Amino acid sequence: MATRFLLAFAICRLIVTVGLTLDPTELLRLEVEGVLSVEPADLGAASRDFGGMQNAEPLAVLHPGSAEDVARLIKAAYESGQGFTVSARGHGHSIKGQATTANGVVVQMSGSTKVAPPRVSEKFMYVDVWGGELWVDVLSSTLKYGLAPKSWTDYLYLSVGGTLSNAGISGQAFNHGPQISNIYELDVVTGKGELLTCTPKQNSELYHAVLGGLGQFGIITRARIALEKAPHRVRWIRVLYSNFSAFTQDQEYLISLHGQPATKKFDYVEGFVIVDEGLINNWRSSFFSPGNPVKISSLNADGGVLYCLEITKNYQESNSNAIDEEVGALLKKLNFIPSSEFTTDLPYVDFLDRVHKAELKLQSKNLWDVPHPWLNLFVPKSRIGDFDKGVFKGILGNKTSGPILIYPMNKKKWVAKSSTVTPDEDIFYLVAFLRSALDNGDETRTLNHLTNQNNRILRFCSDAGIKAKQYLPHYTTQQQWMDHFGDKWTLFSKRKLEFDPKNILATGQRIFTPFF
Ligand code: FAD
Repeated sequence: MATRFLLAFAICRLIVTVGLTLDPTELLRLEVEGVLSVEPADLGAASRDFGGMQNAEPLAVLHPGSAEDVARLIKAAYESGQGFTVSARGHGHSIKGQATTANGVVVQMSGSTKVAPPRVSEKFMYVDVWGGELWVDVLSSTLKYGLAPKSWTDYLYLSVGGTLSNAGISGQAFNHGPQISNIYELDVVTGKGELLTCTPKQNSELYHAVLGGLGQFGIITRARIALEKAPHRVRWIRVLYSNFSAFTQDQEYLISLHGQPATKKFDYVEGFVIVDEGLINNWRSSFFSPGNPVKISSLNADGGVLYCLEITKNYQESNSNAIDEEVGALLKKLNFIPSSEFTTDLPYVDFLDRVHKAELKLQSKNLWDVPHPWLNLFVPKSRIGDFDKGVFKGILGNKTSGPILIYPMNKKKWVAKSSTVTPDEDIFYLVAFLRSALDNGDETRTLNHLTNQNNRILRFCSDAGIKAKQYLPHYTTQQQWMDHFGDKWTLFSKRKLEFDPKNILATGQRIFTPFF
């Protein structure tokens, strides 16, 4: 009863706020298998995200019980009077309010208990999952069959729909492409409320639009994800470089091996930058033994900066005899600092879930729910040396305030027709500044300082003519979005007109303004 009253109240508020002609009873009559909620706890949770810097309260939250629930809601938004906005929210791990919508309805895709569980096809090596499924749960369901997805993110507590709306990248991307390159089929509810199945051949325009589409063209309710035989264990190696070009040459060499047989290449290639004096562990994964601390000063770092290459080799227990030899042969080709090799060996699941362990540690110290002014850039290979000089050895000034990842990818592994934007070169680097702001009296850790530094990095790229593209992009004007998409803008806006003509969806991205 109380919920019904709150819902009626919220809908009246919606009408007053945006001047709709929508009859409140219309939405109240919306029959859903799940729950349409206006509970303050639901509204509060849907207002925030991991970035911790924005707050936008929706009028209601739908916990869908099925894809049809999502279709019913969007159809109501599209057809009734002047409509209202609808944003899918996966696990809310965006940085700048991308999954929020003020004065509209958030569809809380993750955490729904009523939707179908993952269904694995052993024969065809795929899994069908609900769009709000977390990758960690996808993994546990496929492992029951000895199978696993091929392409990952570093952190598994993200939703399938959320990462597919961006790209989904990690150290496997050089080999398998991003997660969006490993999807056979999708069910999508468009901005008109139609529930469509799409593949590279059927409704292919929608399929390509939605992958990397920042939630603009529809809500993904099901994804069919490619699987491979799951390895049992992982040999995980880190080696250090003081010379940036030696580091990038080795990274580029390793990703050039993507076409080689599995025994002749690593399975994962990443890396990170170490500019802080002192221990080189960071929160993402403490790896270097605390009993054996590594000091930058002892390694003769170039310009005070060290670079860590991170590589892994997967293997089956039945093949454990060959692993030393395979890894040894690959390491021989690399030019890292002699004796700077750190190796560990662990179950595949523990490797994939490594960042969650760090999360639990930070949570126990109340350091997880803090503002995260993250900046992710794709930097073209031809300018990565200039980026090193200007940013790692310049703007950062010997202070990171969090991990800085750097690793290259092969553009040919990305589906060109998808909505994601990458630099116009065969190889480009992800550079990820994953920093946490703290209010601990250290001026260099404040949100203000880190935000200013991010702006300086972006300005440096622009002034130096480095054609970097933001990954997980955030802009505030349509002109900036047009610049971001470049040649793809015409296609992007044409697809928007076709699949979400009233600009109802994912307004938290701030690309298009709703037509009401
Ligand atoms: P949300 O923040 O809930 O949503 C993001 C966007 O997608 C919104 O616009 C939303 O409307 C839309 N959306 C959500 N669900 C759907 C759906 N079902 N259909 C259509 N649109 C939808 N990214 C990487 O690529 N690699 C990494 O290694 C990586 N590591 C990360 C580690 C951490 C700790 C964090 C916080 C983020 C990381 N990310 C990484 C970024 C992450 O992939 C994106 O922020 C992603 O969007 C988060 O998923 P989510 O489910 O929380 O999405």
